[in-house]
Amino acid sequence: MTQDSSELKPQWLDNIMQTVGNTPMVKLHGLSKLAGCLVLGKLESFNPGLSAKDRIGLAVIEAAEKKGLIQPGGTIIESTSGNTGYSIAMACIVKGYKCILTTTDKSAEEKIAQLKALGAEVLVCPNHVPSDDPLSYYSQAERLAREIPNSFYVNQYYNHTNVEAHYQSTGPELWSQTGGQITYYMATVGTGGTVSGAGRYLKEKNPDIKVIGVDAEGSVLTKFHQTGILDKSEIHSYQLEGVGKNIIPSNVEFDTIDRFIKVDDRSSAFRARQLTKSEGIFVGYSSGAVIEALMRMRREFKPHDVVVLLFSDHGSKYLSKIYNNGWMQKQGFIRKIADYAPSYQIQRRLEHVFNKYIKNYGNI
Ligand code: PMP
Repeated sequence: MTQDSSELKPQWLDNIMQTVGNTPMVKLHGLSKLAGCLVLGKLESFNPGLSAKDRIGLAVIEAAEKKGLIQPGGTIIESTSGNTGYSIAMACIVKGYKCILTTTDKSAEEKIAQLKALGAEVLVCPNHVPSDDPLSYYSQAERLAREIPNSFYVNQYYNHTNVEAHYQSTGPELWSQTGGQITYYMATVGTGGTVSGAGRYLKEKNPDIKVIGVDAEGSVLTKFHQTGILDKSEIHSYQLEGVGKNIIPSNVEFDTIDRFIKVDDRSSAFRARQLTKSEGIFVGYSSGAVIEALMRMRREFKPHDVVVLLFSDHGSKYLSKIYNNGWMQKQGFIRKIADYAPSYQIQRRLEHVFNKYIKNYGNI
């Protein structure tokens, strides 16, 4: 006998982009204990492309359409560390555009493979060149946009729709999911969209909310916030992906951000690994950076504080990097047994003890 379906409403969606947003917020038990207040994680890996950047892909394309900057059958171009590219590649499929992405040889190979799997054309550029070098991924995207007719370069660093997408969606979610109790919002800063858009929304709701931008060692953003100077001597290469910049994107709204905290590659990698093991939430590299910033601030929190850490993406995007002990050793983040042992025999014995430790207690 068929059940009466007249009361049921269909719940399917028209396309994948409609699954973006409304990501869960989950209590982080270990970090709440360490910080002495409620610490929550906003899990942006629940978006279809496993990152917060899914929130901007469709918005930037539709804004360009409204302004007449792209016509049917055109090509969308973007420079990306991977996550924005994924979001734009999905949106291009739904909208019927071609997609060309420039990225750098620093991006995890998983991320580049994901872009290709979605049918995007990917141009991998060198990471170790200045932003204005003709070979940089910014310059290459600009060149492609000049050369290809009916193309549009998204330029997430200066395209204000990026910030607005987070103002419209991430901000309201943070406010409502904490029942208006949020006192600190902490997020990594790349283009600045995530921290600025959601941060501005939250401050409009309650100006006492503190917005903390997390930056990478080797980036110019923190010093610019403190002094208004773009100090090129601050620039050096680093491993964190999507965090920090060697330019000042106009999408970083410096007035919205109360404070910047700079963190290092090594601590960020270990923080991500620790959280994944202790809470069962498989987080990406930049999430480790936010945790490291929280740990540096932990003595400042009061018991009534409600701190939200925005976890930008999913750990599966970094299996070949921070979740790979070989890569960690290559970076010097994990010392090799050989570094400690004077002879081969002692090396073997130490390896045995070390492996037993890992088996019993997991990686540090
Ligand atoms: N983390 C990761 C993994 C990212 O891909 C990005 C985007 N560059 C960020 C953090 C920073 O986000 P936003 O560009 O909105 O500042």
